[in-house]
Amino acid sequence: MVKVAVIGGGLAGSEAVYRIAKEGIPVDLYEMRPSKMTPAHRTGYFSELVCSNSLGGKEITTGAGLLKKEMEMLGSLIVEVAKREAVPAGGALAVDRERFAKGITEIIESMDNVNVIREEVKEIPKGYDYIVIATGPLTSPDFSKSLMEITGEEYLYFYDAIAPTVDAETVDFSKGFWGDRYSKGEGDYFNCVLTQEEYERFYNALMEAEQVPLKDFERAVFFEGCLPIEEMARRGKETLLYGPMKPVGLIDPKTGKQPFAVVQLRKENKEGTLLSLVGFQTKLKYPEQKRVFRLIPALENATFVRLGSIHRNTFIQSHKLLEPTLILKKDKRILFAGQITGVEGYVASASTGILAGINVVRMVKGKQPVVPPKTTMLGGLVHYITEPKEELQPMNPNFALLPPLDKKVKDKQKRKLLKAQRSLSDMEEFTNLYL
Ligand SMILES: Cc1cc2nc3c(=O)[nH]c(=O)nc-3n(C[C@H](O)[C@H](O)[C@H](O)COP(=O)(O)OP(=O)(O)OC[C@H]3O[C@@H](n4cnc5c(N)ncnc54)[C@H](O)[C@@H]3O)c2cc1C
Repeated sequence: MVKVAVIGGGLAGSEAVYRIAKEGIPVDLYEMRPSKMTPAHRTGYFSELVCSNSLGGKEITTGAGLLKKEMEMLGSLIVEVAKREAVPAGGALAVDRERFAKGITEIIESMDNVNVIREEVKEIPKGYDYIVIATGPLTSPDFSKSLMEITGEEYLYFYDAIAPTVDAETVDFSKGFWGDRYSKGEGDYFNCVLTQEEYERFYNALMEAEQVPLKDFERAVFFEGCLPIEEMARRGKETLLYGPMKPVGLIDPKTGKQPFAVVQLRKENKEGTLLSLVGFQTKLKYPEQKRVFRLIPALENATFVRLGSIHRNTFIQSHKLLEPTLILKKDKRILFAGQITGVEGYVASASTGILAGINVVRMVKGKQPVVPPKTTMLGGLVHYITEPKEELQPMNPNFALLPPLDKKVKDKQKRKLLKAQRSLSDMEEFTNLYL
């Protein structure tokens, strides 16, 4: 008899267990709550939402909305229960958090093939044919230690210091130039140029902007060598000019001179549709980030697909460790799912749980594991986290992950709608072929 374990009964673990058990395969679900809590969870329910009760936009022209639609096509438990327990929230799908998590828990606990084991896993359990690891951003410290043994110490991160990312289509490339410092490299950076006056305006706004207060369990982060941009700025007006905004080694081809200050944008994916602000990790409040960073002339009209943050977050460097099928390259019995893979947020985490579940089922049945095409939001996300890159920073579902359309469409909303329609049709083909 085949033996399958899922570790972690959060958003991703719940989806994985549901999928595996529904296909008639017995599965052990390990969850440490309620006997051992994470610093953010409050109950013993599976899929507890630890903060906001919103699962993001409903429209398919939003990243989370399109992903939820695709998840429905794949038979998502989370989306089904969320719709049943929805509370009015305008364009967003928000839920009654208690009824939502309780509903998921009741369904999972009542499934014949699920054996719930309420204990903390400290080491990868032995004797299983397949194991899905879905212990989330607050994976227990003991288990993190044993994860390091299978991932390698340098590939397991304990916090994310995220710099904002913009949609390349919304950057004003006339206000800067492409080029690497000291012309080393292949011109992969776009340098947004600031004059002294523009720098001062930016600096003053940064100094006045409001920060998110740190949670107790997040305080240690700054001691680990990761300073938010506003903290650096607080050390003196010139500090940024010797740090992330330094112009040295860069000559603006338009003037033949070194600019006063620059903000470098680096490609986050092969296609260059996503650009991140190098060294701009920040704890500023989200609306403040948009207001302050839009003072950088090239970003005046930029769409921020992800804003900066510094959080406690356990995640692996999936681009080194995982196949897009979420299978660990060096041990094909092990799959990862949820935020620990480097996706971000409730919905993205749950979606990777479905994929891990689908692939366990396929392997148990002797079939090849699969991955949805890049044109779908789920496919775009898993390809993003597993594609080669210098370093993986967590990513949420957004339209810049999807390949451009065959022909150029100027109107942003129309472009999103066409991309969403393409995703849904490709996901339908995927489900017809593989589910
Ligand atoms: C403070 C905070 C606020 C957040 N706010 C938001 C928000 O507003 N919106 C949003 O979309 N996302 C938010 N997130 C992110 C969101 O919580 C995650 O994206 C999502 O919960 C990840 O799902 P998951 O299944 O990967 O992990 P989780 O949902 O965290 O599930 C992991 C499960 O594994 C269990 N576990 C951990 N270690 C072990 C072990 N060793 N043995 C057994 N069980 C174990 C945990 O108890 C937990 O139940 C927030 C995260 C944090 C920490």
